Amino acid sequence: MKLTFLGTGTSMGVPVAGGFGSENPTNDSRDIRWRTSAWVQTDEASILIDVGPEFRLQSLRSGIRRIDLLLVTHEHTDHIAGMDDLRSYNYVQKQRIPLVTTPSCRSSIIRRFNYMFGPDRTPGSVDVDIKTSDAPFQFKDCMVTPLPVLHGDLPVYGYRINDLAYITDANFISDETYELIEGAKVLVLNALRWSPEHPTHFTIPEAVEAAKKSGIPEVYFVHMNSYVKHAEIQKRLPDHIKLAYDQQVVMIP
Ligand SMILES: [Zn+2]
Repeated sequence: MKLTFLGTGTSMGVPVAGGFGSENPTNDSRDIRWRTSAWVQTDEASILIDVGPEFRLQSLRSGIRRIDLLLVTHEHTDHIAGMDDLRSYNYVQKQRIPLVTTPSCRSSIIRRFNYMFGPDRTPGSVDVDIKTSDAPFQFKDCMVTPLPVLHGDLPVYGYRINDLAYITDANFISDETYELIEGAKVLVLNALRWSPEHPTHFTIPEAVEAAKKSGIPEVYFVHMNSYVKHAEIQKRLPDHIKLAYDQQVVMIP
């Protein structure tokens, strides 16, 4: 199984429009982060996790030719703003794209992209089939398990796909969800900044604690802000925990 990080940045992206947070730029390409999203490929399936504002650019940059399944973590704009650019995949694949997400995200997508749904849908607009169950399901050669976590008060789904556990935009993981990720080989986890604490995201030290608690042997952090300088922060982390960077590829046995 192949995981590609399409983006690893926080909601405003890195660098931020207008220059906020860019007081100390580096020449390190790993310090440029598009909005957090990932692409999982297996022998049988091409699965997209989140569809943010840079989705079209990310799909071109990484060469996404098919989307068999779309997993959306939650309704914040940095995770769904690229919905309209799924149109070309409907056009080529000539079928609806199955989409799994939380109940509140389903409502939000239907409200915000109302022209894609209902009797008055714009002909030729994006065609997705949204399911909201958190029950594990088999999709081609993937066992997919939604992972309920909290992003402040907002329920978010992480997803386990075979031996990959992917959790973004969380600052609380319940014991039940730790059980669901037990035995995974790779964990992806959000880690916004070193400090101070944030009401809806893990900081890097908090994410290190959560990663250790999971017992998963290989860990990648995503959803980082512009103050996280890759080379400097990586040195402070345990060996098995890496800061992910855009277009990084991880093979999962
Ligand atoms: Zn986000």
